[in-house]
Amino acid sequence: MNAPLRLDETFNEVDDRLVGLMEALFHPTGVAGVYGRRGAYEDVVERLAAFISGHREEDTEVMRFPPVMSRRTLERSGYLKSFPNLLGCMCALGGTERDIRSAVSRFETGGDWTEGLEAGDLVLTPAACYPVYPIAARRGALPAGGLRFDVASDCFRREPSPHADRFQSFRMREYVCIGSPADVAAFRERWIVKARGMAERLGLPYQVEVANDPFFGKVGLMMAEMQRHDALKFELVVPVRTPEKPTACMSFNNHKDHFGEVWGLRDATGGVAHTGCVAFGMDRLAVAMFAIHGTDTAGWPTAVRDALRF
Ligand code: ATP
Ligand code: ZN
Ligand code: MG
Repeated sequence: MNAPLRLDETFNEVDDRLVGLMEALFHPTGVAGVYGRRGAYEDVVERLAAFISGHREEDTEVMRFPPVMSRRTLERSGYLKSFPNLLGCMCALGGTERDIRSAVSRFETGGDWTEGLEAGDLVLTPAACYPVYPIAARRGALPAGGLRFDVASDCFRREPSPHADRFQSFRMREYVCIGSPADVAAFRERWIVKARGMAERLGLPYQVEVANDPFFGKVGLMMAEMQRHDALKFELVVPVRTPEKPTACMSFNNHKDHFGEVWGLRDATGGVAHTGCVAFGMDRLAVAMFAIHGTDTAGWPTAVRDALRF
């Protein structure tokens, strides 16, 4: 027998049109921003992934990462300083068999088993590119022209939301460049141009805007201001929910020497390497496709279907 649906197992988007969209694409799991995905949705995610692969530049090394990563690596990357509120840390029951048993019996008698949890050495990966920098650093000085990577990961950010474009668990694909300041600047310029063409082929209305990361707290407001002033982040935004507050489906980031300093990355001339990435929000892009073209992929414009090889 099916259990009756609890209130938190329905979709709660404020916009009725988007509630309908979410019902067509997802299965609720009882947690905001964590959804099971229907087949037609997943098919589009896979086609988008292939479409993005089709735009991969030459000499780009492919790496895929798990949904968890080294806590130490993320701490060293500076994530805690910038986004402590978004980070998820793996924890597990530790101690002796007796300790673990007693936590379980607390649960069985209606108590709180989570008191027995200990923080582990893993965090939930918050962006696909973090694990690549220490791997590249271990290889020594960069060749002239730098290195390029194609990375992807399931990502987690603690930002529960009822909206159709903000998940706690979502997929991210990135192209990353590690090289001289000029290599990274050129990489980002090329990708902004390429991404515009990609959005056009996908039939998505879009704009490319200067953006900032949601740095934590009052100090974070200043960091965000500086990031905008130096134009270190751009986003390709699509009117998924409203035209006034369009949704970032891709971002183009120049981290300057941040990761180079942290991991001791050196470019071919011996200077501190710069890094940059273009990130594709796979779930954002897929939701955008359905929001713009409708839930029936058979009715999508022919050019769009061709681009996704339907
Ligand atoms: P936003 O401003 O919407 O919070 P962001 O600046 O935090 O986005 P990035 O850190 O640049 O996003 O992440 C790269 C891409 O990952 C984004 O452009 C977006 O497409 C996707 N993304 C980020 N956060 C989420 C989320 N909570 N749910 C789904 N996709 C996301
Ligand atoms: Zn990145
Ligand atoms: Mg964000």
